[in-house]
Amino acid sequence: MTRPLVFATRNKGKLVELRQLLPGVDVLSVDEAAQRLGVEIPDVIEDADTFVGNAIKKAREVSRATNLPALADDSGLEVDALGGAPGVYSARYAGEGAGDAANNTKLLAALANVPADKRTARFRAVLAFADVMGPLGTENLTADGVCEGILLDAPRGTGGFGYDPLFLVPELGQTFAELGVGTKGDLSHRAKAMRAIKPRVLAYLQQANGQ
Ligand code: IMP
Repeated sequence: MTRPLVFATRNKGKLVELRQLLPGVDVLSVDEAAQRLGVEIPDVIEDADTFVGNAIKKAREVSRATNLPALADDSGLEVDALGGAPGVYSARYAGEGAGDAANNTKLLAALANVPADKRTARFRAVLAFADVMGPLGTENLTADGVCEGILLDAPRGTGGFGYDPLFLVPELGQTFAELGVGTKGDLSHRAKAMRAIKPRVLAYLQQANGQ
């Protein structure tokens, strides 16, 4: 029998993007999986100091809680002028529970005296796939993807989430928040990581599902 795949995220923006990148696969969000299986899936504490460490932790904990294969992403913004910060702390840059607006305000303040040519940054995403109770067992599949850009000194655009309104893609002259979901879904860090991991996940699921 075909087992669904659980996306180990409660971030709605990421879920939309990840679903779009894996058409044809029966995917459940964490909340849908919890409801369908009647189990509690606790939030995973992201206490690793690398993207890959956090992604593997999320994928393994959700796979264990659901007894299903799980795919998790950990991602963030690396700013050269800030020595790679906020990095793995991107979601809580302005403090635990801080929203996108507070994070963006803090980033603009941190870069206030940094000239345009020094405002280089990249989004990085690591995807991890685990199937703790399946044939993959103690192993994980991982892949990463990067998207290079420049940080503006004021937000532009209304789409996307997180730091999107500040992140300019120089080749397109538009921020991630100005690009349509389709364009961002094509060139984003998550899209690149997904393209790298997708054939391996699909091959694994086909074999594990006995097709
Ligand atoms: P995570 O949920 O721990 O992976 O946190 C990732 C954080 O990095 C998000 O909350 C955003 O602040 C930021 N981030 C990651 N990917 C993106 C993106 O595509 N656009 C804007 N911000 C992003």
